[in-house]
Amino acid sequence: MNRIKELAYKNYVKVDNIPIVVQKFGGSSVADFDRIMNVARRIRKRVNQGNKLVVVVSAMGKTTDNLIKMVKQITEHPDARELDQLLATGEQVSAVMLSIALQKLKLKSKSLNAYQARIQTLGKYSEARITSFDKRRLLFLLKTNDVLVVTGFQGLTDEGDIATLGRGGSDTSAVALAASLNAPCEIYSDVAGIYTTDPKLYPAAKKAKLISYDDMLELAASGAKVLHGRSVEVAKRFNIPIYCGSSFSDEEGSYVVNEELMIEKSSVSGLSVMENQIHVVIKKLPVNYSYVRDIFRRVATSGLNVDMISIISDEDGISVSFTLIDEKKKRLDAALKRALRELRDYEIEYHAGFIKLTVVGVGMKSGIGVASDFFNALKNVPFKLVTTSEIKISCLIEKQYKLEAVNALVKKFKL
Ligand code: ADP
Ligand code: ASP
Ligand code: MG
Repeated sequence: MNRIKELAYKNYVKVDNIPIVVQKFGGSSVADFDRIMNVARRIRKRVNQGNKLVVVVSAMGKTTDNLIKMVKQITEHPDARELDQLLATGEQVSAVMLSIALQKLKLKSKSLNAYQARIQTLGKYSEARITSFDKRRLLFLLKTNDVLVVTGFQGLTDEGDIATLGRGGSDTSAVALAASLNAPCEIYSDVAGIYTTDPKLYPAAKKAKLISYDDMLELAASGAKVLHGRSVEVAKRFNIPIYCGSSFSDEEGSYVVNEELMIEKSSVSGLSVMENQIHVVIKKLPVNYSYVRDIFRRVATSGLNVDMISIISDEDGISVSFTLIDEKKKRLDAALKRALRELRDYEIEYHAGFIKLTVVGVGMKSGIGVASDFFNALKNVPFKLVTTSEIKISCLIEKQYKLEAVNALVKKFKL
């Protein structure tokens, strides 16, 4: 552990000989004014210990959800640019509130939005990718400030519009800033680190002191929202450890690190749950793979993310099935109808009420018998689909079996 800390906190950028640290506080950490003051006091403590901070914040509490609900009062399909313009206001409010709280504690602080920190992005609205920050400006401002509070989740397009990074994207803002400044990155939320499974779902879950980038990437992709998947990609690319801890306690958290730093790799290091899954089955397609290609082309151009794909060819023709998050069903239906517009006799079925359970572990690569243990643990749970990769096994089950299945897997793999 000490080796990891040394690695995370050595040779990093200083301003006037004071080391800079990037910290991120998520929605629950700044959900109300008491919590904002709590965060401000934690920051003051760190400044008093001899750091300057770049702090990234998310919107207060459920603000982003509420803004989405608000726009849906007017239309189900708002224009993408306007929606991003709206959602970005959440982070502006929390950044300013935290900066004012810091000033009240007599710290020198400035809040900066995407324009002021010149956070450039590429890509589409609602899934923009950060390409650069105005690092020189940030370092210059740090000369006269103890803290800069930067809005997470937002950046600018080449045209100068606001674009957001996707739900949960403030983590990525923080890691990208840390990578660009060459500073350590600490992410604070309402749990004290990365656990073997969601501690809110399974309070006896164990905290991992260390977890590899690859395990964390799989956990994030399969539903563990504790870190935004892209933040882990960025950390992996720049090889910077991410520290995850609680905003509400001083309990030692977890580090997400390069696999090589992990001496012991358990075969299964975590379990995650993806809710609201539907199982989509397209049947009786002619035995002509151009339709299959068309389906997935339309799915991709509609920005849909499908998973657990299975394709079977038998005497009834080709059947394609996959999973998708329930909210996207309408968009998928439109895409499928376009892809198959020349055909008549095919059938599409949508089965709702599923969840996807995934166990993850880089140790699976060398561990034998993980699949056997997995199926043994779930012997009383009927599953619909199973997919595997080198480091994960996922299965689709009906949602009423969630707790039973989580309990059985936690027990089997000692999570
Ligand atoms: P923030 O608002 O600070 O970004 P999030 O709500 O996005 O926080 O992420 C923290 C939440 O992630 C926790 O409250 C926890 O319920 C959930 N979570 C899911 N899986 C895990 C896991 N394996 N370890 C820790 N937390 C997890
Ligand atoms: N406020 C945004 C969201 O709710 C970004 C984030 O929380 O990281 O998705
Ligand atoms: Mg989050």
